[in-house]
Amino acid sequence: MNLEKLVRKNILELSPYSSARDEFSGDRMVQLDANENPHETGFNRYPDPYQNELKAKLSDIKGVAMQNIFLGNGSDEIIDIAIRTFCEPGVDNILTVKPSYGMYRVSAKINNVELKEVALNQDFSLNAELILKAVDDQTKVIILCSPNNPTGNSFEVKSIKQILDAFDGPVLIDEAYVDFSSNKSWSNELSNFSQLIVIQTLSKYYGMADLRLGIAYASPEIIRIFNKVKPPYNIAGQTQRTVLKQLEQNENRINLEFFETEKKRLENYLNDSILVEKVYPSDANFLLVKFYEARKVFDYLKENGLIVRDRSKEFNCENCLRISIGTANENLKLMKTLSLLS
Ligand SMILES: *Cc1c(COP(=O)(O)O)cnc(C)c1O
Repeated sequence: MNLEKLVRKNILELSPYSSARDEFSGDRMVQLDANENPHETGFNRYPDPYQNELKAKLSDIKGVAMQNIFLGNGSDEIIDIAIRTFCEPGVDNILTVKPSYGMYRVSAKINNVELKEVALNQDFSLNAELILKAVDDQTKVIILCSPNNPTGNSFEVKSIKQILDAFDGPVLIDEAYVDFSSNKSWSNELSNFSQLIVIQTLSKYYGMADLRLGIAYASPEIIRIFNKVKPPYNIAGQTQRTVLKQLEQNENRINLEFFETEKKRLENYLNDSILVEKVYPSDANFLLVKFYEARKVFDYLKENGLIVRDRSKEFNCENCLRISIGTANENLKLMKTLSLLS
């Protein structure tokens, strides 16, 4: 992959903003270089712009070298940075599938970049041939979400490889839900595919949605360019410290078995319910459920204080609600409430 040809010219030529912390990052002496308030509040100093301590911890946990890691203010920020790095507004396009995560469209629109959407197969599997056929000269990035939101399924390794082999530009794989699946992360393939950008988040499995931390894994060359494009202090120091502490304390605490057991329970219940036409197989912490009358079920649940996500307007998702796996009590309440309707 030739990055020089793929990255926007203005980004290639950009000299990034050089912050006080860029120019001096040694031991803290008398610091009169950043116009901070000198009085200690616990928050008065700017944070590490490259989050090195946190990256070292994530590198340990994820088995990916630090030079291959970029952190964003949520993975939503990384999606935006990827679009801004590679796509010329009003000229280039990005390619993704439908149905998939709605932020790709919003982020593309904000940047005045066209979003091309290729339909998934009826069973929501990936059609690599159709995707490759839709690529044109202005297609700069392909985005694939696996496991996919809102459908819950993972895409076949074979199909994704086919796309990586044939497409010469960056392929961004959004793995927001990979921690719930038994599939390996595509971050293991960085050395085989230089154009791979894998993004993950601490917002779902790791239970830190409030802290806003997204992770990208990519080649050091791509990471270097993302570092130029990002705002200098995009991850708050408070977030860096808190995430580090959480990861140190909770590494072994997060419980996949819980999600598996609860998902199975809910899945079995829904499959038996006369309200339900189909429960789609899920590798994530939610179920996409086709009801006979989704709107009626949605309104009834809402009246009873249960909020689920109506996805019926999404492509091929007529009458579908997306239901997150809650606590055991919340799931029980959902099942009891649905039983009263059926
Ligand atoms: C939730 C979600 C995200 C957002 O992650 P943040 O890190 O919280 O911004 C990204 N992609 C998909 C597919 C998601 O479902």
